[in-house]
Amino acid sequence: MNSDYLRDYAASADANALAEGLPLTPLQKKLIGMVDEVGVQWAERAFTHDREASFPQDNFNDLHHMGFFGLCVPERLGGIGADYRTYMLVATRIGYYCGATANTFNMHNANALWTASMVDALDMTPEQRAQHEHNRSVHYTRMLAGSIYAQPFSEGSGAAAGRHPFGTSAVRRDGGWVLNGKKIFASLSGSAHYYGVLCTEDVPNPTMANTLFMAVPADSPGLSIVGDWDPLGMRGTVSRTLLLNDVQLSDEAALMPRGVYAQAASRYPHMFMTLTPTYMGVAQAAYDFAVAYLRADLPGVNVKRRMYPTKQIAMAEMYIKLQQAWSLFHRTTSEFKLDPSRSERMRALACQYTVMESCADICSAAVKVCGGQAMLKTFALERMFRDSRCGALMLPWTAEICLDRLGKGLLYNEGEPRDDAV
Ligand SMILES: Cc1cc2nc3c(=O)[nH]c(=O)nc-3n(C[C@H](O)[C@H](O)[C@H](O)COP(=O)(O)OP(=O)(O)OC[C@H]3O[C@@H](n4cnc5c(N)ncnc54)[C@H](O)[C@@H]3O)c2cc1C
Repeated sequence: MNSDYLRDYAASADANALAEGLPLTPLQKKLIGMVDEVGVQWAERAFTHDREASFPQDNFNDLHHMGFFGLCVPERLGGIGADYRTYMLVATRIGYYCGATANTFNMHNANALWTASMVDALDMTPEQRAQHEHNRSVHYTRMLAGSIYAQPFSEGSGAAAGRHPFGTSAVRRDGGWVLNGKKIFASLSGSAHYYGVLCTEDVPNPTMANTLFMAVPADSPGLSIVGDWDPLGMRGTVSRTLLLNDVQLSDEAALMPRGVYAQAASRYPHMFMTLTPTYMGVAQAAYDFAVAYLRADLPGVNVKRRMYPTKQIAMAEMYIKLQQAWSLFHRTTSEFKLDPSRSERMRALACQYTVMESCADICSAAVKVCGGQAMLKTFALERMFRDSRCGALMLPWTAEICLDRLGKGLLYNEGEPRDDAV
C-alpha cells in the first residue's frame, strides 16, 4: 500500500497534463504544489476511508490548514480568490490522489464559487445585491473558520435534472423560512456543518424561477440524516439521506437572493461541470498506476510486463483517450463565462460526457492491462475502477442527460418547435 511512486509520477510532465506546456498562473502552480505536499498521504488514507466508507475528515483538516476552505472566497473577504479555471485545475490534482476527497471538496467549494464574482454579474436589484453581500460574508467567514458546506440537491425525482421545481419547500413565516423535504445522496452527511439545499418557495404554480438556495445548519432542530451508506464507489463521500422537517431558517441562510439560482443555472452552464476535475484526476491516476505496474515501479510488483506488444497497444489506447479528455477539459474550462455561445454550451456537455465516460473506460482498461493481481484491494486501482463508475451518474449532467441535450441542441435551434415522430 505504498503510494510513494505517486510523488515521481505526479511530477512527470509526460504523465501529467498540468506539469508542462500549459500557461499556469503563479497562483495555480502554488496551489497545485500545495496539494502535492499532502497528496501521497491522502492516497494512503484513501484505502481506509474506502474500506470503512468513512468521510476523509483528516484530509479536510489538511484542506482547512491549507486555506482551501476559502479557495474560491474572494481575497477581499479573506479567501484565496481562485477563479473557476484555477479551481478546476487544482481539483484535478486533488482527485489524482483521492477521488472521494475531490468529490466532496467540490460540494463544499461550489457554495463559494457560485456565490462570489459569478453572482455579481447577474441581474439583481440594489437591495438584493446589498443583502447578498451581507449574507455571503457571513457564510465565507464561517468557511474560513473551518465550517464545511455540503450541497445536497438530489431528491430522487426529475428536479435535479431541471425537469420540474424541487419538492423541498420553503414557506415564508415570521420573517424567516420553514423548510420541509428530503434530499438523497447528501455527500458529507454527518460531517458538514451546513447543507446548501435547493428548495422551492411556496407560491401558487411555482416554476424553477422560484428556486431558493439556502444553507441549513447541521444542528437545526428538524434536520436528520437517515439510511445506510454502503455503495459500490466513492464510499468516502458518505452520501446518506437528509430529512428536513419544519426546519426554521433566517434570511441570512440564503446563499443567493430570490430568483438568482435559476438565472445562474441558465446563464452559467459551466457551473454544472465542476465534478469533471475529480474524474479527470482519477483517470490520470489510473493511467499512471498502469504505467507504474507494467514497469514494476510499484512496491510489491516484481515482474515487468511492459515488453509485450498487447500491453503497449493497450497503454497507447489509454493514453490517447486520456489526452483527448484533457484537451477537451482544458479548452472547456477556459470557456467559462456568462452567457456562453451555443457551441461553448455544447462543448461543455461534450466535455462532461467525455471526461466521465473516459475515466470509467480508462480505469476498466487499466484493470485489464495490469491483470488479476492489480484487482486486489492492496492496490488503489481496484478502488479507482469502482469510483470511476460514479462520474456518469451525477445530476444534473449525467452522461445520458448530456447525450440527450446534445442531440436535441445540435438538431434544433433555440426555440424551434419539435417535429412529430413519423
Ligand atoms: C457517490 C455519489 C455522491 C453523490 N453526491 C451528491 C451530492 O452531494 N449532492 C447531490 O445533489 N447529489 C449527489 N449524488 C446524486 C447524483 O447526483 C444523482 O442524483 C443520483 O445518482 C441519481 O440517482 P437516481 O437513481 O435517483 O437517478 P434517477 O433520477 O432515477 O435517474 C437514473 C438515470 O436516468 C437518467 N435520467 C434521469 N433524469 C433524466 C432526464 N430528465 N432525461 C434523461 N435521462 C435522465 C440519468 O442518466 C440517471 O443517471 C451523488 C451520487 C453518488 C453516486
